[in-house]
Amino acid sequence: MADLNLMEKIVSLAKRRGFVFPGSEIYGGLSGTFDYGPMGVVLKENVERLWLAMFRDDRDDMYGVDATILMNPKVWEASGHVQTFADPLADGKMFNTMFKTSVGAGEEVSTVYMRPETAGGIFTNFKNVVDSIHPKIPFGIAQIGKAFRNEIAPRDFIFRLRELSQMEVEYFVKPSDWEQAFEEWRKLMHLFAVAVGIPQTMLHELEVSDGDRAHYSKRTIDFEFEYPFGRKELWGLAYRTDFDLSAHAKASGTELSYLDEETKEKFIPHVIEPSLGVDRTILAILTSAYREDDMGGETRTYLALAPKIAPIKAMVSPLLKNKPELVEKAREVRAELKKVHSAIAWDDNGNIGKRYRRQDEIGTSFCITIDFDTLGETPNLKDTVTLRHRDSGEQERLTISEVVSRIRSAIE
Ligand code: ATP
Repeated sequence: MADLNLMEKIVSLAKRRGFVFPGSEIYGGLSGTFDYGPMGVVLKENVERLWLAMFRDDRDDMYGVDATILMNPKVWEASGHVQTFADPLADGKMFNTMFKTSVGAGEEVSTVYMRPETAGGIFTNFKNVVDSIHPKIPFGIAQIGKAFRNEIAPRDFIFRLRELSQMEVEYFVKPSDWEQAFEEWRKLMHLFAVAVGIPQTMLHELEVSDGDRAHYSKRTIDFEFEYPFGRKELWGLAYRTDFDLSAHAKASGTELSYLDEETKEKFIPHVIEPSLGVDRTILAILTSAYREDDMGGETRTYLALAPKIAPIKAMVSPLLKNKPELVEKAREVRAELKKVHSAIAWDDNGNIGKRYRRQDEIGTSFCITIDFDTLGETPNLKDTVTLRHRDSGEQERLTISEVVSRIRSAIE
């Protein structure tokens, strides 16, 4: 069920609390562009870092590249994007959604495209990675970066953008091994969903039928998410066969095959591609995390973000800001927590309930309050603090070192 009211609330919270702002807003915006603000940029980085860990760094068969956005236009001719990366206009005519720009000046000027997917820069570096790293097949190349699509109708906040970010893997296998690799990456995508806090109940796999797949794919699963505006694509997993490497080999005249040293077999690897949009992931995370409840007779809004990806891990607060001994002790506690993670906020503004509410809205899991008991007013409570939990609002009295280890284990 579409819940447009929920969408409005998410957009409004995202703006109010510094997650996502409309692009070029003071000039009336630019359709299909959004900027990440102070909270959003950290959330985005945390999502990307987690993806890098799970899809690249925790594995022994994955390597990274960071390729350019502007590429030789022959790349997009060979990949088929010049001919087929198009959507129908209202009159039925096809409109190619790749952005064009020009490089050079005067007689030297030529037209190039801004990449519509990051994959292009992976395929063009296939040979470089093989020649420099000598990976054993199966292996893959991962990349995060911007992609550009001149969408005819950008809409639904950061769902359909003209400038977007992608996290993509091209995983190279022996032709006979594609099904097994497809299943492995499919599982990892589900694990990633769980890790960022997207519940399995809101995620659905859709087997894309023959007629609807991209020109390069023999099998595609769309991972769909229940956004407030309906169930739509979040990520894609595609079996791209040897389409890309073969096409680039042919068009460039460069051999793009792999020599298996053990069997002395030479072949063009086949490719499994898990492709994840960063912005759609952020929207799915915000949608999954948005909550309202009743607390102390008032409606409270909070984001139940996974501590691992929350922009702020904990907030430290002296009960009163005009008591130097409380402030000093709170500063010490904060310094201690900062050794665990740098994203430990400080707030001494307004009453304590308001401080908690501010952190709830940005998804901070823990708030720590330093009071007179921390200083030893009640002797057996010396060096204990109040740890307040975001989701339940419950508070417990713990020693500072207990709090340190709680926070460490929550974000590990
Ligand atoms: P759609 O059918 O929604 O247009 P697509 O099938 O064209 O998407 P892919 O080409 O498979 O998308 O791109 C891979 C991923 O990149 C998508 O699963 C999505 O997460 C992201 N993505 C694609 N287009 C956009 C866009 N315009 N804005 C934001 N993210 C996008």
